[in-house]
Amino acid sequence: LLGEDILGSGFAFDIELRRGAGAYICGEETALFESIEGKRGEPRNKPPFPVEVGLFGSPTAINNVETLANIPLILELGGESYARIGTAGSTGPKLFCLSGHVARPGVYEVEFGATLRDLIELAGGVPDDRAIKAILLGGAAGVFVGPDQLDLPLTFEATRAAGATLGSGVIMVFDETADLVETLRRIAQFFRDESCGQCVPCRVGSVRQEELLARLAAGSPVRSREEELVLLREIGQAMRDASICGLGQTASSAIESALRQPGLVAL
Ligand code: SF4
Repeated sequence: LLGEDILGSGFAFDIELRRGAGAYICGEETALFESIEGKRGEPRNKPPFPVEVGLFGSPTAINNVETLANIPLILELGGESYARIGTAGSTGPKLFCLSGHVARPGVYEVEFGATLRDLIELAGGVPDDRAIKAILLGGAAGVFVGPDQLDLPLTFEATRAAGATLGSGVIMVFDETADLVETLRRIAQFFRDESCGQCVPCRVGSVRQEELLARLAAGSPVRSREEELVLLREIGQAMRDASICGLGQTASSAIESALRQPGLVAL
């Protein structure tokens, strides 16, 4: 029901669609506002938060499509019944995007609390029964976990306790044939390219992080390997502490998590 004076109620409501141009940073809510307002897609400093000062300076509720898609289900079932889906801390159904070394990559809907193993089985398992080397949870800004975490329940609380994250719902499986060095370099290149460049820690840090990984991968560090790894961690720390938005704050997350796991990455 859209338009002016809906059903003679005096209430007006309408929908306007704006098509984005694909910039990753415009998934950040305030960069999205800037983009819709016709400016460069750069995140704003917070506070003020969107509920106080959002789109065109007005209080704004901003949700992603997956959240809004749950509303009909909540209305249909009632809040209490809906809350019984999933776990106490993570209610409802959840979409996960399976990719990498699985037989049937795609988007799968399960209840919160399904395990990593459940999801990988839903996607047909690893081709040729090869062993799993690592799983990237949450996408490029996520965390690598090892095959010892296959029984990890996919909930906010369980992943947080395991030092991981659900992030965007991405589950990328890497089997024993995967070259994780190239994957880490690709992730670093991605953040270097997608940084909006507004703040120094992310703009410079994401470049330095990528350069450093390239040096290590090429076996040509400019100082000892150990010193290079310390520098890499310091760059990550600076980006986490001083970047304006989540892109810079998480740009080192997957890389650091992979390097924390003994023997996972041959750098
Ligand atoms: S952290 Fe990166 S993406 Fe975010 S505002 Fe700073 S430069 Fe832009």
